[in-house]
Amino acid sequence: MDNVNKILFDVDGTITKTMERQEQWFKYWAKKNNVVWPHQSFDEFLISYNASLALGGAQKIYDDLGLPCNMEDRNHFVWKAFEDFNVENSPELYPQMEMVIKTLVKMKNSFGKEIRLGINTSNSAKTVYSDLKKYGIFDYFDFLITADTLKYIAGERKVEDLKKPNNFSVGLALKLWGCYPEEMIFVGDTLDDLKSSLVTNKKRVITVGALYGYEGEKLKRGAELGDIVDEEKIKLTFDHFIQKPTDLLKLVKSEYGFRF
Ligand SMILES: [Mg+2]
Repeated sequence: MDNVNKILFDVDGTITKTMERQEQWFKYWAKKNNVVWPHQSFDEFLISYNASLALGGAQKIYDDLGLPCNMEDRNHFVWKAFEDFNVENSPELYPQMEMVIKTLVKMKNSFGKEIRLGINTSNSAKTVYSDLKKYGIFDYFDFLITADTLKYIAGERKVEDLKKPNNFSVGLALKLWGCYPEEMIFVGDTLDDLKSSLVTNKKRVITVGALYGYEGEKLKRGAELGDIVDEEKIKLTFDHFIQKPTDLLKLVKSEYGFRF
């Protein structure tokens, strides 16, 4: 427990309020393609978005809205438009997130160990870089693991397979820091984040579920993964939950002995 001093962050729904930007993007893309926007409110959009996502992934969201997109073809014109839109429309940070990030790096445990921060997102480097840079928190992270990192390591065709819930990116963070799973906390807002925390059949990193993110209270259900060796199901649950970003400061203080 004294060795816990690495915190890996998901970005969308954990650091940034990206869902609101997603709605803006789909509205923009609908207008651009002369498609009538079918939703009356953000909540209505969110319900429909999550339902489509669960049934057929991101492609189904576009298909259900009748919007042009081809997830298989990275040269499809939707991608450039999407990247440009994201860079021009930064999402807000969750309340006090900037303060939380800047405070975490000032904390030390009884051995004088400082907290190190890293990023693990399935989003593109370009988008995440511009979002974090805009709020002046980019420099607080040791590294950014993004979709582009996966592309660089494994090639274009493997990217989707290696994204969370695959454990590849969490494993990569452990390698970059040279630490053991039990020394790292992963903060995420989806059950896919939780699934990706199982780095071997038995070992997993410490997980914190951000209840304010995309999946809300659903995180409390936990997730099941098939055990490759024994063909048994492994039940995963988050180690901790936070209701708001400042809860993370309380957590590292009470559970992992960090002080200012
Ligand atoms: Mg997320």
